[in-house]
Amino acid sequence: MGLSERPVVVGGGAAGIIACLTLEKAGYSPLLLEADDRLGGRLRTETMSDGTRVDVGFQILLTAYPELQKWADIGALDPVRFVPGAKVHHRGRWKTVADPLRAPSLLLQTLTSNLGTFGDHIRILALLRDVRRGTALSIQNQQSPGTTWSFLKTRGFSDNFISRFLAPFFSGIFLNRSLAPPSAQFCYTFRMLATGDVIRPRLGMASLVDQLERKLTRTEIRTSTRVQSISENHLVLGDGSILEARGAIVTIPGLTPEAEPTLWNSCLNVVFACSQAPFGRPIIGLIPASKAVTNFHFMEDVQGEEGKGKVNATALIAEGSTPDATLHAMHDDLLGAGIRVNETLWQRQISQALPQLAQVRSNVANPRNPQGNYIAGDHTAAPSLDAAMRSGRVAAEAWIEDHPQKQSK
Ligand SMILES: Cc1cc2nc3c(=O)[nH]c(=O)nc-3n(C[C@H](O)[C@H](O)[C@H](O)COP(=O)(O)OP(=O)(O)OC[C@H]3O[C@@H](n4cnc5c(N)ncnc54)[C@H](O)[C@@H]3O)c2cc1C
Repeated sequence: MGLSERPVVVGGGAAGIIACLTLEKAGYSPLLLEADDRLGGRLRTETMSDGTRVDVGFQILLTAYPELQKWADIGALDPVRFVPGAKVHHRGRWKTVADPLRAPSLLLQTLTSNLGTFGDHIRILALLRDVRRGTALSIQNQQSPGTTWSFLKTRGFSDNFISRFLAPFFSGIFLNRSLAPPSAQFCYTFRMLATGDVIRPRLGMASLVDQLERKLTRTEIRTSTRVQSISENHLVLGDGSILEARGAIVTIPGLTPEAEPTLWNSCLNVVFACSQAPFGRPIIGLIPASKAVTNFHFMEDVQGEEGKGKVNATALIAEGSTPDATLHAMHDDLLGAGIRVNETLWQRQISQALPQLAQVRSNVANPRNPQGNYIAGDHTAAPSLDAAMRSGRVAAEAWIEDHPQKQSK
């Protein structure tokens, strides 16, 4: 097999890494081109000036993700488990809401939280039962026309329970405050939450990237290599050089023709100094009355000593707003909930955080595009790590199917 037929993968995020692992398993030695100076894409952990590790955009791993199970050794990530629920600020107090099946010890606190009615708790149980039916992927692929909001109304949840708990909780996951994402994405995420743990690798999301990268033994990785454009037979790189390549696997939008450009939700992730005692266990905090904050956690609860005196909060940058205005609003939100935050220690704006998709699917039905390339990335399927990984695998499998002859070793 000539050089031009060597598989080339563009973008070294989760989708690109899994595409390379899939190709390697089939005996190929791919070339991975990544614009940044490291792999991982949106999975990135930085170290603050005092040595505290912080993910660029707070993220969680749902251990029930089928694709994560396929590729990662979750135990080796030294996972910190979050309580399957949240602390919700309501009428000046912190109320605990937890999955009654996964955290039965918090059942009483959940039932007496006053966030919803008794009927809402029954409806949650019914939903837990329903989303466990069928395969996980069939849930994500259901072609329901409605938004998450309309779905929750159809299921009969009270406005109070939606606005005090369900909307704040899922706004943080979807990075969308109006629960506009399709109900299929909600049901899939709800099932993942109900059937597995919510974890963060102790050393941050980058340790997942490190683990996957270590498995790449036959891939040539070229970091700091931006692909400028793609044509039928070659790629033009950022430095103007041309790379002969046919049928590249492209894991980012914008380089290949698209019916519509991908729209993104943007967020701001901030670490504030804080003189407030933490909750005492890893749990997500929600402030339903917030203007900006979608969720937060006390870093000490998750990272121990290094997180002491720090709160990590995320906010959406609303259309027409600025990062500065968002930062002020976040500060006010936290103070308003009685959390004594002081100065900003670290902040990152993530302008392309999650793709806005009107329909989700477990993966694109056919990753081949008319130009002879193979498309992948979360924007082609659903806004999650699970979908990103799967899209990389499916695109690589299609490439392998179309190139049956193995590369000579
Ligand atoms: C704040 C935040 C919170 C999130 N929370 C969760 C969560 O809790 N759970 C969950 O499941 N998912 C979450 N996600 C989503 C998850 O991180 C993504 O779905 C997944 O990482 C996307 O992987 P990807 O490979 O599709 O894209 P990316 O990670 O964006 O990878 C694309 C790669 O391509 C590179 N690239 C770009 N342009 C070029 C070019 N021209 N040439 C070469 N390389 C290029 C980029 O540098 C990048 O490395 C969150 C994301 C963010 C940002």
